[in-house]
Amino acid sequence: MPPRKRTESAPTDDVPTRRICATDEVNERLLRTVPGYADTRSEIENRTGRMVAFEGAVLRTGCTSIPVVVHVVHRTTAENISDAQVQSQIDVLNEDFRARNADRTNTPAPFQGLVADARITFRLATTDPDGNPTNGITRTSTSRTSFNSEADDVKSASTGGADPWPADQYLNIWTCGNLRNSRNEALLGYAQFPGGPAATDGVVVLHSAFGTTGSATAPFDRGRTTTHEIGHWLNLRHIWGDDGTGCSGDDFVADTPNAAGPNFGAPTFPNITCGNGPHGDLFMNYMDYVDDAAMFMFTHGQVARMQAALDGARSTIGTTAPCRDKGFADDIVKPLPTENVKDFIKERPKELVKEPVKELPKDVVKDTPKDTPKEFVKERPKELVKELPKDGGFDPKDFVEGPDFPQGPVVQPVQPGLGGQVPFVLGGQARGAAGGGDPLLPLVQQVGALLWAYSSAAQQGTLSPRDSARWQQLSAVYAQLVALLG
Ligand SMILES: [Zn+2]
Repeated sequence: MPPRKRTESAPTDDVPTRRICATDEVNERLLRTVPGYADTRSEIENRTGRMVAFEGAVLRTGCTSIPVVVHVVHRTTAENISDAQVQSQIDVLNEDFRARNADRTNTPAPFQGLVADARITFRLATTDPDGNPTNGITRTSTSRTSFNSEADDVKSASTGGADPWPADQYLNIWTCGNLRNSRNEALLGYAQFPGGPAATDGVVVLHSAFGTTGSATAPFDRGRTTTHEIGHWLNLRHIWGDDGTGCSGDDFVADTPNAAGPNFGAPTFPNITCGNGPHGDLFMNYMDYVDDAAMFMFTHGQVARMQAALDGARSTIGTTAPCRDKGFADDIVKPLPTENVKDFIKERPKELVKEPVKELPKDVVKDTPKDTPKEFVKERPKELVKELPKDGGFDPKDFVEGPDFPQGPVVQPVQPGLGGQVPFVLGGQARGAAGGGDPLLPLVQQVGALLWAYSSAAQQGTLSPRDSARWQQLSAVYAQLVALLG
């Protein structure tokens, strides 16, 4: 029997079975049709690259709270999602963008050091553009049976949608049913990158992929579509670099492995592509195409890009204050203090401590807080201590450009004054494959991890002066260890 001929090209199912997002396609359309958009995007990328590489995107220290308006555009009862469903989405965002989501612990061990707190929170707006009180939710009844990302028709009352609130003050989120792209494929959502027209700025999400209750439907019922789309709104690209399934695309993030194409569903670790073994694709990242339950982390590099967006193209939106709630870094830093550092150092194998030094340079000892790596430094061979940096500082260029680090560890300058005199943030792994067999390597990695934890706290503005001093000590020890490894 010949296959039944379809007389209507439009699919009847309005919910995709796997993740699909039209952000890249929308970007291509804006590049083609909006005068000046290409130049604006280039400027934003150049600025972002500079900020991430050299200056550090930390004009906003602490956490940034972004006011959100959710425009509920509905034809059916199901599409008219409840206030509770809207709030459930805000709750997800406040976990995901602070790395407070419980499932972040599912990140495979080799990638756990990449999990980062984006220091961004979201709240439904309490004041509308006219200055009147609001619950941050608008409701618009429509006769439209579908909306299309190419037409951006959900974003205008004149086409059956809802007009945005001023995009320089609010994050506009539209929810609706039966969302389509240019090929009439069912979509989960799409966003507009920074630098586009204000009239269409924001993100659109299918109602059944929004929040965790009400009409939210598996496998897109954990609110991650909105997390993904807001990642785009803050200038994140798809993790595979939007080059189809090739290996040449770039997401402009240094700490995400190069990947071929999107991953779907719930992949098994590792999935190796583009020579990125042994750990493979970072498919558990919010910017891949996996199901909601399979994505649970942003990386430090992605956070740097998002913070650069907040300092640049998104600089007018939101308010920034010290992070009040505990984030991921706090979880790490809390058990760290003195005792752990000390115990950790005490337990080092004896063979690592061959020639105890008699005394330390005064520069180092002078302000060393009690129970810091002082003991460790004492036990190091003399030649280690010799070159300890003056004034507690060290030059990150030594790390980035030194022969031990052909690729360089992640070194990000932070805003002066943040943690007292502490000048730099170090992150990532201490050393690549080159140091494989060195018995000192685990120690270097552990000190590096401690250092990173303190650095994260400093970026949140939660590091006390005493901890800042400890951070400097750790920095010095780390520098010495790295030198010894070489
Ligand atoms: Zn996307």
